[in-house]
Amino acid sequence: MNAEIIACGTELLLGQNINTNATYISNSLSRIGLDVFRHLTVGDNKERFSSAIKEALSRSNIVITTGGLGPTVDDITMGTLASVIKKDLVFNKKIYKYIKDSFKKSAFKVPKDAIKQALIPRGADWIENKVGTAPGLIIKHEKKYLIALPGPPRELNPMFEKDIIPFLKKIQPQKWIIKSRSLRLIGLPEAKVNEKVKDLLELSGHTTLGIYTHLGQVELKITSKAHSEKSADSNIKKLEGRIRKRVKDLIYGANKETLQEAVGNILAKKKKRLAVAESCTGGLISNLMTDVSGSSKYFVTGVVAYSNEIKVNRLNVPKELIKKHGAVSKEVAKSMADNIRALANADIGIGVTGIAGPTGQTKKKPIGLVYIALSTKSKKIVKEFRFQGKREEVKLQAAQQALNLLRLNI
Ligand code: ATP
Ligand code: MG
Repeated sequence: MNAEIIACGTELLLGQNINTNATYISNSLSRIGLDVFRHLTVGDNKERFSSAIKEALSRSNIVITTGGLGPTVDDITMGTLASVIKKDLVFNKKIYKYIKDSFKKSAFKVPKDAIKQALIPRGADWIENKVGTAPGLIIKHEKKYLIALPGPPRELNPMFEKDIIPFLKKIQPQKWIIKSRSLRLIGLPEAKVNEKVKDLLELSGHTTLGIYTHLGQVELKITSKAHSEKSADSNIKKLEGRIRKRVKDLIYGANKETLQEAVGNILAKKKKRLAVAESCTGGLISNLMTDVSGSSKYFVTGVVAYSNEIKVNRLNVPKELIKKHGAVSKEVAKSMADNIRALANADIGIGVTGIAGPTGQTKKKPIGLVYIALSTKSKKIVKEFRFQGKREEVKLQAAQQALNLLRLNI
């Protein structure tokens, strides 16, 4: 079975609202194994809405419309649906009663136009709206289904979850479920990860792999279509095993896990305490680390040492070192990491210095040049990076790489 989603709303076409209903519905349908073939948006115009519905009905088993169910003149869905299925609109007492009841609860008078929302196409099944007034509709039409849902997401979502999903599960002849698991990677760009898993990305059939890039990170998403959750899980596990064999060191977590959570977990487990001295990242590393609840167990301090003066006076970076190598240098990064570790009495020190841009570059030191140093009692590492992008993108990539350096060396 397949479905199409048609959003009705001029405000969507004007770009004033985002069509989040389509995202939400598609996501929910994919979970129950229903294929969505098309998303369409039309304005509050009866002719265009009606031809869009007819066209969709000619291709798909299920057509879901959103919006336009309210009582105002621009709410054209009921009339449009009635004309598409060639039925008249009939007054439904039960709908009118719950609309009146919901107004009573809100202490407003029942508006005259409310009666319009109780007019539905003859033969349609209706669904009570527990949050607003507009009812939803399910219409069986020539072996196909037309489903109309209210526009506001807070009304649509509960109705979809409680009534539409169970209904669709019931009418699906073959029961499929779709499950996904994302592996989160850092350390290589997308093109390089792609090389390592290329053949797996070309898998066809019921378990597939997709690759997506986020700033400084790569996501490998395994998706399995199966007859049961158990069999989807086992398919995912098998493919994950093959992926891990190739990119194990790059994977820091799965699904919604963040890099800072992954690093925090390792620090907590190994009982190591971290201190950070940041220049070009301006406190971003400290901010990310403290986004994680419970981070006080392992995060001691973060010092933003932006000026050379503070690098010298607060972090004890030797003046001569800055003079000789410049503030953006391996030597200064290393000194920042060593000294913050000592000052904070921590197990691990991180030092970051670089040029976030768009100004401040020199011939030898381009925008995006960042040095990240890690210091422990026994380990001293300094790495040079050359990031691309806008100022905030350079900062974020530098912070992420600092976290990754930690992840790999705690
Ligand atoms: P109402 O009874 O509130 O008039 P309705 O079913 O008539 O509901 P619309 O009038 O089309 O719905 O839209 C009402 C509001 O719902 C819009 O202003 C917008 O905020 C939101 N909305 C409508 N369609 C969508 C959509 N596709 N995605 C996200 N939000 C939407
Ligand atoms: Mg409306």
